[in-house]
Amino acid sequence: MLPFSSTQTKPSPHTPNLYPSSHSISHSLPSPPSTLKLPKTHTQLHPHRLRIRAIDAAQPFDYETRIKTHYHKSNALKIAILGFGNFGQFLAKAFVGQGHTVLAQSRSDYTKAAQSLGVLFYTDPNDLCEQHPEVVILCTSILSSEKVIRSFPFQRLKRNTLFVDVLSVKEFPRDLLLKYLPVEFDILCTHPMFGPESGKNSWANLPFVYDKVRIGNNGFRLNRCEKFLGIFAKEGCRMVEMSCAEHDRHAAGSQFVTHTMGRVLERFNLESSPINTKGYETLLNLVENTSGDSFDLYYGLFMYNKNAMEQLERLDNAFEALKQELFGNLHEVCRKQLFGTVEAAEAPREETAQPQKLLTVGTQNGHDETPKKGHENGTEQLH
Ligand code: NAP
Repeated sequence: MLPFSSTQTKPSPHTPNLYPSSHSISHSLPSPPSTLKLPKTHTQLHPHRLRIRAIDAAQPFDYETRIKTHYHKSNALKIAILGFGNFGQFLAKAFVGQGHTVLAQSRSDYTKAAQSLGVLFYTDPNDLCEQHPEVVILCTSILSSEKVIRSFPFQRLKRNTLFVDVLSVKEFPRDLLLKYLPVEFDILCTHPMFGPESGKNSWANLPFVYDKVRIGNNGFRLNRCEKFLGIFAKEGCRMVEMSCAEHDRHAAGSQFVTHTMGRVLERFNLESSPINTKGYETLLNLVENTSGDSFDLYYGLFMYNKNAMEQLERLDNAFEALKQELFGNLHEVCRKQLFGTVEAAEAPREETAQPQKLLTVGTQNGHDETPKKGHENGTEQLH
């Protein structure tokens, strides 16, 4: 139980300070004489007034709580998510968890899912915009994003809204946002490089790529952008600032290839066995990780990243080269088996030639009676 006194208010200028701060304590001063009479306290003056002596729980009007609430409020953002499918809901959960106000809008009605996550859902984008979110996140499929952006009522938003995209390709949405967004809007292109499957337990050390494409150069805008990035940093993400073009180059060689292999193996129908090796478990996990994502997402990685085609061809060539190597070796074995019979017919004569030679040498010494082979090596001298 914490001691609590209702009389702990700001001391009046007439009341001596009984709890001076360390700055006001002078060690050179003598201690006050014991006869010194102090003025009566508030409680002594009003002995019958209600006094709280102890509390069992932290009170909301407690100074620390007030400071904390103020801190949370000043850091909390009002974030709108456009596209409340698989990934939109996954992000919303974390945002709500950090105390942000989250609004969402989508083509389908996700009212119930939103309610369960503590998100306000709007079927009409106009209604969402009228709530004046500070940050709007584009979280629709890559394929539908242009259509969504073109028909979005930007004019209903505040003029300096921060627009963020989380699409898995980056050059395409960057160009789209630069083309369609009002010039007053800030643009932050991001790619959280994890999803509901890979980030289901934690986001710690998972890469978060971002490119500050257009952030107004004033304290408020810069601070808002940092606050938004701070959400991911707070979850432990590995924050990677990188240009959209560089992202697409890297992502085609890593993410697109990963998704492709996952989908190939899914079609291959991998099954768990009682003797799974660690490597095989990795493949099963890969299939599980990628099969949760929509085909639209995978198709978007291919269609809207100009580097994807080259990687697909490299993958195809690598597979062909590997097959060639295997078939080349197989061919060698088959050739030996096929032509080995002909060679084998020759081989015994060769193989037997050596002992023959030795034997005939032996004969020369008069130890053997083996008939002579006139034309063979080593025997000629015996004629
Ligand atoms: P998705 O299939 O790429 O996108 C589904 C979302 O797009 C849903 O909200 C859906 O709305 C909306 N949508 C699809 N077609 C539409 C159309 N014609 N008009 C309007 N909206 C349409 O799956 P996702 O996993 O949720 O991904 C969303 C975005 O996040 C994508 O851009 C993806 O690249 C990115 N991302 C995903 C992951 C991941 O792991 N899943 C990770 C990082 C980034 P309705 O549901 O209302 O139909």
